[in-house]
Order: sequence, then structure tokens, then C-alpha cells
Amino acid sequence: MRVGCPKEIKNHEYRVGLTPGSVREYVAHGHEVLMESGAGAGIGADDNAYRAAGATVVRTAEEVFARADMIVKVKEPQPSEWVQLREGQILYTYLHLAPDPDQAKGLVDSGVTAIAYETVTDGRGGLPLLAPMSEVAGRLAIQAGATALQKANGGRGVLLGGVPGVLPGKVAIIGGGVVGLNAAKMAIGLGADVTIIDRSIPRLRELDDIFNGRVHTRYSTVEALEEECFSADMVVGAVLIPGAAAPKLVTREMLSGMKQGAVLVDVAIDQGGCFETSRPTTHSEPTYAVDGIIHYCVANMPGAVPITSTHALNNATLHHGLQLADKGLKALADDPHLRNGLNVHKGRITNRAVAEALGYEM
Ligand code: NAD
Repeated sequence: MRVGCPKEIKNHEYRVGLTPGSVREYVAHGHEVLMESGAGAGIGADDNAYRAAGATVVRTAEEVFARADMIVKVKEPQPSEWVQLREGQILYTYLHLAPDPDQAKGLVDSGVTAIAYETVTDGRGGLPLLAPMSEVAGRLAIQAGATALQKANGGRGVLLGGVPGVLPGKVAIIGGGVVGLNAAKMAIGLGADVTIIDRSIPRLRELDDIFNGRVHTRYSTVEALEEECFSADMVVGAVLIPGAAAPKLVTREMLSGMKQGAVLVDVAIDQGGCFETSRPTTHSEPTYAVDGIIHYCVANMPGAVPITSTHALNNATLHHGLQLADKGLKALADDPHLRNGLNVHKGRITNRAVAEALGYEM
């Protein structure tokens, strides 16, 4: 199969669908890979690195779209990209179609077969192509929060690890899933005093086993949330209720009970945020203050570290990508988890949740 990878054109997107390492794997499976020139610039991989891996580098995205049987990307296609897709072609990328009727129509009209990373499942009920970005965001949350806690950045002026003779900073993590686990690892690594709050007791048990006494765990009630937020230097919002907007667990009223200059990092902002006072921010202006509390609410946190994020994403997407390249659509018939990723096929929406959200017939 001829596999194509254009440069990402969404604003401030520096990741790329294929690393040179992934290109080598496709080539080793007997496929031809077309890379748009400059596609890997954001991760420090130049055209020669792709040529050395066996790719053919072409000058324009148009050439990639026109010649490839399968397009591998990171972000959802933009309007100038929908119009270049066609029936018989496979698109393999993040789509997030449910809140995006214009893109859905663009893909339906194109006739393309679109597989969305975010709806591919695994045997343990997880979303394996989404998890690596939660790992990145969870780890980054503590770095971002620690920076915001510095006085010159508006924060309280607390060093999370303390020093000998001075107590460490307190970090409360609301939601102990993939983001929460990874935030906790980083916070512990820095020497902070960490509490994870979740409403799943089985998950709290798992976390207790994983950290073996290095974190406190608490069942999520209003009382627990208030107590933990009021004593925290940093609160990380990491809850997820699949398919729903994030619940507003920290109200504006609660801010008045918090320490002045404390930091809220709302990783769940991409689902609307779990603090009442959260609104999406960008990497160029990541924080703002409400009632003396610093808010960090960047909606695409992994974009800050495109090298790490691209490699993590490629690790997760490569196996299914190779299956698609090797077998074409038969790969979907062979693997129900990959089939769950199918969102659009020959002018129809094929994922039930997406179809219901957008009012399409299945
Ligand atoms: P996850 O499903 O692994 O974990 C969510 C956890 O929240 C679960 O353990 C669940 O029990 C818990 N939870 C649900 N309701 C709760 C409540 N009322 N109180 C306490 N805990 C509660 O999800 P995840 O992968 O960790 O993702 C968390 C959020 O981070 C999602 O909204 C995701 O979209 C977002 N995210 C954002 C970025 C970004 O760049 N901002 C990047 C990746 C993920």
C-alpha cells in the first residue's frame, strides 16, 4: 500500500503522524511511504531523516493526498484537507467528530474510510490510542503547576519538594485515572505531599497498591474536596465521565477557602473543565487568576512537548496502522477493537455514539 503523511496544518500543531522510526516499519512491511517535505520539522526530524528511513519526500500536501491509499495524521483534517480525501482511501488520525458537524459532513461527502484514534478500544476496556496523551498531560500538569507556583509567575512561592527542615508543598489530584496516576508519579518524584481523590473505590485500591503508602487516597465527596483544596498548594483536575462534560467539582465559592496564590491545573478542560472558574487557555498565555487563585487550563497540553508526544503517539498507533496497510479494510473485520475506531465509511457515519451525537442514521 502507499501510505502518506502530510504536515499538520492546525494552528500550533507541531506533532507528526509518522516518525522516521515508524516509516522504517512500514517500509519493512513492503509499503511505500510518502512524506510531505518539512512534516517532521516540529520534532527535529528533517527530510533526510525520512529519506534515510526509506520514505519518498514530496513537495506538497496535495501530492500526498492525491497519491496515497492511506493517510496517517495527528489532528482532525482541516477544511482544505477534507476536499482532498476520496472514496477508497483510508484516513487514520484523531477525529473527535461528535462536537464537529462540519468536519463530519466533510468526511461523509468525501466518501473516505476514516478511523479515529480516540475510539479504538483494547481488551481491558481502555482507549489505547488516547492513553499516551493522557500520560503526557498528567506528567506535564505538575511541571506546569510547579512553574505557576513560583512567585514571579503569580503563585504562592512554594517549592513542591520543600528542603530539609521545611515541609513539602501539598498537591491534591482529583481523578485518579491515567492523567491522575501520571501526575501523582511526577509530584512524588519532586517530593510533594500528594493526595488522590476518586469516586471509584476499586481504583483507589489500585492506586494504594501502586504507590504503597507514598500517596494518600480519598473517596470523592464535597467534604473531602473542600478539605483537600483548602489545604493544597496545587490542585490538578483530572476527572473524566466518558461521553459527558466534566462535573464542576470545585466551585467559585470554594476558591475563597483556598490559600492565596495556590494553583489549579485543569487538565479536564478539553471536556469543559472540572473547576467552575476554568476557561480554555493557550501555551502562549497559559494562566490567569480568579480571586487570587492561579488557573492553568491549556486544552492541548501535549502540544508543548511534540517530540515526546509524537513518539508516544506513534508507539500506540503503529501496530494498527501496519495492520491497515497490510490487509486494507480486512484489518477491521479481523480486529473488533480496531473496528470500533471506524467512524466514517463510504458516506455514512459508522460509530453509534458519533451518529447519535450528530443526528445521523447508522
Ligand atoms: P480516566 O478515565 O483514565 O480517569 C478519570 C478518573 O476520574 C477515573 O478514575 C474516574 O473514577 C474519576 N472520576 C470521575 N468522576 C469523579 C469525581 N466526581 N470525583 C473524583 N474522581 C472522579 O481519564 P484520563 O485519561 O485520566 O483523562 C482525564 C481528563 O483529562 C479527560 O477529560 C481527558 O480528556 C483530559 N485530557 C486533557 C488533556 C489536555 O491536553 N488538557 C490531555 C489528555 C487528557
